[in-house]
Amino acid sequence: MSGEPLGTDVVVAVVGAGTMGAGIAQVAAAGGHDVLLYDAVPGAAAAGLSRLSEGLERRVARGRMARADANALVGRIRLAGELKDLAPAGLVIEAIVERLDIKRQLFGDLEEILSETAILATNTSSISVTAIGAGLQRPGNLVGMHFFNPAPVMKLVEVVSGLATDPGVAGCIFETAARWGKKPVHAKSTPGFIVNRVARPFYAEALRVVEEGAAPPALVDTLLTAGAGFPMGPFRLMDLIGNDVNSAVTRSTFEAYFGDPRYRPSQLQGEMVAAGRLGRKSGRGFYDYDGEEPATEPFQPRPVDGVVKVSGDSAPLAGLLSRLRDNGVELRLEQGEGDCVLSFGSACLTVTDGRPATLREETAARGLVVFDLADDYSSVTDIAIAVHDAAPPEALNDAVALFAAAGIRAHALDDTPGLVVARTLAMLASEAAEAVLTGVASVEGVDTAMRFGLNYPRGPLEWARHFGAGRLLAILDGMYESYGDDRYRASVKLRRIARG
Ligand code: NAD
Repeated sequence: MSGEPLGTDVVVAVVGAGTMGAGIAQVAAAGGHDVLLYDAVPGAAAAGLSRLSEGLERRVARGRMARADANALVGRIRLAGELKDLAPAGLVIEAIVERLDIKRQLFGDLEEILSETAILATNTSSISVTAIGAGLQRPGNLVGMHFFNPAPVMKLVEVVSGLATDPGVAGCIFETAARWGKKPVHAKSTPGFIVNRVARPFYAEALRVVEEGAAPPALVDTLLTAGAGFPMGPFRLMDLIGNDVNSAVTRSTFEAYFGDPRYRPSQLQGEMVAAGRLGRKSGRGFYDYDGEEPATEPFQPRPVDGVVKVSGDSAPLAGLLSRLRDNGVELRLEQGEGDCVLSFGSACLTVTDGRPATLREETAARGLVVFDLADDYSSVTDIAIAVHDAAPPEALNDAVALFAAAGIRAHALDDTPGLVVARTLAMLASEAAEAVLTGVASVEGVDTAMRFGLNYPRGPLEWARHFGAGRLLAILDGMYESYGDDRYRASVKLRRIARG
């Protein structure tokens, strides 16, 4: 889907001057185009332009933009009083109410006004681009151009092709978005496109861990930010998005995929919505936003007496071993035996393979403790551990002491399959692989979308490469075996990546 970007001589029109429309108008004007801004509600376009100008004013005040540039940008945006005033536009981007009937009506009206070659773009988050295009005279000219909020800040643009979208049109919009400084990715029109679909496990698995009583929300957030480098944990993010909005997206994805258990909505989140605990906007969600944030205490390594025996495949734990060594812990390499990769006192420790410690029966007597994946064991600050139900009580203390000796705070969870980081990354990688398998996007497209749409530190398939796809696959298979729930079936594409 190659194409040439639109020249700056092409007039861009934006319909709908709300949260997204005003931001999109700013992006197009910053890209050098003359922009027409139209809204059906009288005064709304002017209000959108003033919000935009105030935002630029703040940037000028902070020294981030020259006044002359801000003035020039605003000077390129004109308000359109009527829809027919958009006639000179070569590209119209629609950011109106999220309703299929109203969007169809708008594009039908626009086709009567615009030239035959004008491109029609929709910023819809959830409606099929194919469905919006059906019934148009020139459905090939319609493409999804899905910006993220706030549009001037967030880099990602999903360029969404419906069944009838002309590849040349998608290619042109891709190149145009790139010229506007965005990170465009091609996506096929499927429910949730890339980001809103591939991100579902980030929320769903966190909710599941809390529903099981394995860990409270704040701890899950800590583990995912510390262990995988997510800029914000899922519960803080759900509170920011709004539990009502986040749960509505999950529900619509679940319905659109005909009840696939991978997208099954959470009872817990449903209860939060029912209680009015919507998040920041209602003052309370998974967190309470009235009081002060409790500060986390810095954690210093605590010396231990005794030897840590290392056996089996310890290569992925090199970062952890060097921290132990640097803190004066004696490490002794031994012949591999059973599941223990690290043995200390009565604890036999190994990284989770997706099964709870208690289902790895072979090592019960030796105090099996499973611990979580970490993107980087040489810098991780907090980690989840879980102890075999029948392990001697000292096993937990010894495991906590071992991690403390490396300067890592170990948090004992109930013995849940896949702990927190491992289950989340394995599920994200599988979902991303499934999106690739079904032609929604390329491997690179999915990774770019998740990095620039949600600021993930790595794309899900980049994580699969980082850990080895086989390891994430084994974790999923372990979870599938433990839960017996189709939700944890691995994508065949992840299996193929693991083989390849
Ligand atoms: P919004 O309610 O802030 O703004 C919508 C604007 O469109 C309003 O000013 C309204 O008066 C105007 N409008 C409604 N019907 C119209 C019509 N027929 N003709 C002209 N103007 C009309 O909504 P928003 O949050 O900016 O969302 C707009 C679109 O962008 C939706 O399709 C939404 O799904 C999508 N989107 C939203 C976000 C987000 O985070 N808010 C992110 C990505 C995409």
